[in-house]
Amino acid sequence: MKTALVTGGSRGIGRAVSLKLAKDGFFVLINYLSNETQAQKTLEIIKEQGGQGELLKFNVADRTEVRKAIESWKTANPGKFIEVLVNNAGIRKDNLLMSMDDSEWDCVIDTNLNSLYSVTSAVIRDMMYNKSGRIVNITSLSGISGLPGQMNYSAAKAGMIGATKSLAQEVGRRNITVNAVAPGFIHTEMIEGIDEKEFRKLIPLGRFGNADEVAGVVSFLVSDAASYITGEVISVNGGLHT
Ligand code: NAP
Repeated sequence: MKTALVTGGSRGIGRAVSLKLAKDGFFVLINYLSNETQAQKTLEIIKEQGGQGELLKFNVADRTEVRKAIESWKTANPGKFIEVLVNNAGIRKDNLLMSMDDSEWDCVIDTNLNSLYSVTSAVIRDMMYNKSGRIVNITSLSGISGLPGQMNYSAAKAGMIGATKSLAQEVGRRNITVNAVAPGFIHTEMIEGIDEKEFRKLIPLGRFGNADEVAGVVSFLVSDAASYITGEVISVNGGLHT
């Protein structure tokens, strides 16, 4: 059974990705930060559906913790390696630049962008050694178009796109693909409080998306069907291009 690690795999888009990859036959490592109840629930659903997985708690923004957790998993699972990585964990701390404090900048960059370096660098050698790997980075429409009040988030998400394109060129010869998925507005806790009525007027498909619609694209990108796609950014946004 191939192993897939989904950061922030316990809730929202990450949960939908974890469930879908488990259905696709992967053993899913469900990473989360603190909400154990939701993480357990995700694992229970996977098991109810006949899939397999385990929880892997670590803070993606803490490089030492990331490396320790992945090393411990490797020691406990000799002969296995993480063949699919979905860098999904993310947070928003929106503010206009004139009101933004250092912690709002730092924690968004650490959680959304520096995490990509920390987690990916902890798994890439095994993928290269085994000449097999799929990496999918969950970026955002905000990283493509920018959004007022999201300078921190847009910077992190745009950085993920640059990293995706660069790494894709580094590791392609080792049969590793690296792609990004850029959701628009997707119903999860992250966007609670956003005025849906107002924003959906801007969306050609006339509605917000759901997490399964993002998970389907991730599932495709890690499948054999996507074996010749790398360095791409696929938008899942109902046609909302600004
Ligand atoms: P969400 O519902 O708020 O879920 C966030 C997930 O990330 C949770 O599993 C959370 O774990 C985990 N997480 C947060 N900080 C973490 C950390 N430091 N270490 C480890 N795990 C951490 O968010 P979502 O809407 O599903 O978003 C998932 C990804 O999609 C994010 O990268 C987000 O930027 C991106 N995205 C979302 C939308 C949208 O409209 N929802 C649009 C574009 C892009 P705990 O429960 O333990 O905190």
